Amino acid sequence: MASELPFFDSHSPKNVIFCIGDGMGFEAVKAAGYYAYGETGTLSFEAFPHHAEMATYAADSPMTDSAAAATAMATGHKVNNGVISMEFPGSGAPLKTLLEISKAQGKWTGLVSTTYITHATPAAFAAHTPQRNNLADIAHDYLHLTRPNVLLGGGGNGLTEKDAEAAGYTVVTDREGLLHLDTETENRVSGQFGDTNIPYMFDGPNALPHLSEMVTVALDILSNAQEGFFLLVEGGRIDHAGHSNDIERNILETIEFSKTVQSIVDRVSRRDDTLILVTADHETGGLKVHKNNGKGHVPEISWSTGGHTVSNVPLYGWGRNAERVEGIMNNTDLIKVVGCPSN
Ligand SMILES: [Zn+2]
Repeated sequence: MASELPFFDSHSPKNVIFCIGDGMGFEAVKAAGYYAYGETGTLSFEAFPHHAEMATYAADSPMTDSAAAATAMATGHKVNNGVISMEFPGSGAPLKTLLEISKAQGKWTGLVSTTYITHATPAAFAAHTPQRNNLADIAHDYLHLTRPNVLLGGGGNGLTEKDAEAAGYTVVTDREGLLHLDTETENRVSGQFGDTNIPYMFDGPNALPHLSEMVTVALDILSNAQEGFFLLVEGGRIDHAGHSNDIERNILETIEFSKTVQSIVDRVSRRDDTLILVTADHETGGLKVHKNNGKGHVPEISWSTGGHTVSNVPLYGWGRNAERVEGIMNNTDLIKVVGCPSN
């Protein structure tokens, strides 16, 4: 960043928890509410005091991918699809991310996702590469450049146990290992769960942790940070179920994402120095809900595509600075909700 104006002022949140439901449009939220509670407006984040809708377009296309969308949210800059936090179009220079700015302030940082952790959404907060498929470069940036205190998600895909250990991380590979970490003393943890994305909730119990379990451990560790923390939480597979036009999996991933947000709120509800943002990077599938079939029943729905759409997405804010969430916003505005960007 060219200017040296301070990003955080006295009113800025000490702790920021930035939650992204990948591909979670308004209709995905509605479908999950119908299934979980029999009515709309019932997911945890729908009870947040501040709501907005948000435009998601990329620099080079009205239809964004996760890389350009997450870059816009993490840096305040629109970039081309596929780009991870570098100035394309433009100079090609790395763009400072919220995670990096937070780290420079002495805060601890973390990335948690149900996708493999080098996937585009988490990557845009803690790596810089012109192409989202450069997974080894993304892993290298995590371990050697931005060094989040907590990296929890699917494994493989550029990240190895050996590299993480060599970089000073404690590595865990399943739920058992995760839940047995000494969260009072650990301050660099790499959870590499399986060798790809974490299985869908719909597909039942397995040895790998759910999103809510990963976030609980992440918060246990990050809560030890004196200067506060920045945590990115991604429900990454809502998008995958959307691409497959698979409503059952879409709904159960969205419900787990909502449960995770509820557990975050439960932990910080008495704090006045913490901001929670919940949003999506884009809508996936052109989902439309036609009829509520009641609690425990999949609603009547239709899909219009196996890809992303240009629809605006929901944005919910809770806590410090959350009143800045209002009206119709752009994904580049989120950095200004958190602090005072100098560009
Ligand atoms: Zn997608």
